[in-house]
Amino acid sequence: MTTESGATAVESTRTAELSSALTGLLARIESACRAVGRDPAEVKLLPVTKFFPASDIEILYGLGRREFGESRDQEAGAKVASLGHLSQIRWHMIGRLQRNKAKSVARWADAVHSVDSERLATALDAGVGAARDAGERDVPLQVLIQVSLDRDPGRGGVAPADLPALAAHVAESANLQLAGLMAIPPLDVDPEPEFARLATLHERLLAEHPQARELSAGMSGDLEAAIRHGSTCVRVGTALMGARPITSR
Ligand SMILES: *Cc1c(COP(=O)(O)O)cnc(C)c1O
Repeated sequence: MTTESGATAVESTRTAELSSALTGLLARIESACRAVGRDPAEVKLLPVTKFFPASDIEILYGLGRREFGESRDQEAGAKVASLGHLSQIRWHMIGRLQRNKAKSVARWADAVHSVDSERLATALDAGVGAARDAGERDVPLQVLIQVSLDRDPGRGGVAPADLPALAAHVAESANLQLAGLMAIPPLDVDPEPEFARLATLHERLLAEHPQARELSAGMSGDLEAAIRHGSTCVRVGTALMGARPITSR
């Protein structure tokens, strides 16, 4: 066997693996929707590809996926650069984001799920403006505000009390579009009441900002509970890609 056919064999094994995980996951999402009378078309699967190579994204693209979630600027930037030939690809930044990375993220991200302060929103707005001026992008950035469901500000997310002001700030930013909310339930608690609280916050937000329809909630372990409470986007890593080499949260 030549090296080349060896590599091809590895690739087709990985394709079979991802294809079967994807089929299982879409069936899981569909049955979670049916169980509560929701149309599966309302819930988008966002594959989370952090720590996995660009070749996996290429395989998933071949299987029909077009949107991908990444959580670190440097890693994502390198993948975006190497996958420029996939013309319909869209990138979501879902991880914690420092203000000094906003300019870089504004070059590659179509959406950011982790905006939790006015200062960060302002930096992203400026970054998108600069990228537009430089001809590096031509569309506004979709912004989901991350809400904190625990009382630990260290884990990211805006306190619910500060959500209305932040939403107004994002909605008024020239290069940002307020698209919805994101949250991660606290570790080691029943996610059900957390997602219920999140749904209430989303309803209140929608009353002020009807365009903010996205609710990014649910991961490998809790997507059924999130779908029961109105999730429109489940961010799934492990259940699709397999275990990550290092844990990131
Ligand atoms: C890594 C990550 C996920 C995916 O988590 P899994 O449990 O592997 O599905 C979802 N959301 C965010 C913000 C993440 O950082």
